[in-house]
Amino acid sequence: MANVANCKKCGVLFLQTSSKIDVCDKCFEKQNKLLADINTFVTMYPDEHVSLDIVLEKFNLTRDEFEVFYAAGKFVKIAQKVTMKCVKCGKIVPLAGKTNMLCNACTKKLQNEI
Ligand SMILES: [Zn+2]
Ligand SMILES: [Zn+2]
Repeated sequence: MANVANCKKCGVLFLQTSSKIDVCDKCFEKQNKLLADINTFVTMYPDEHVSLDIVLEKFNLTRDEFEVFYAAGKFVKIAQKVTMKCVKCGKIVPLAGKTNMLCNACTKKLQNEI
């Protein structure tokens, strides 16, 4: 059932055809293009690994925005190639399989502290 809703990105009213889509057609298309561009950029990157910071800077994304896409499974194909810096100790680790921005050692430490 179609519903009128506010676009989560730009606030415009749009016809919501699925409860899974919370942005208007324009923003949805823009987002899809951005995701495709990021995937292409990382895939074509000449080095074996590319740091997350480079990706964020190149596409003017915040870490939070990236994490939302990542959590939604948008970067499954490129996660092996992207590396991130552990927010705690600064170690460079692959992004693949990560649910937070910590390296394995710091994740363990954190779990032990709780
Ligand atoms: Zn919009
Ligand atoms: Zn760490």
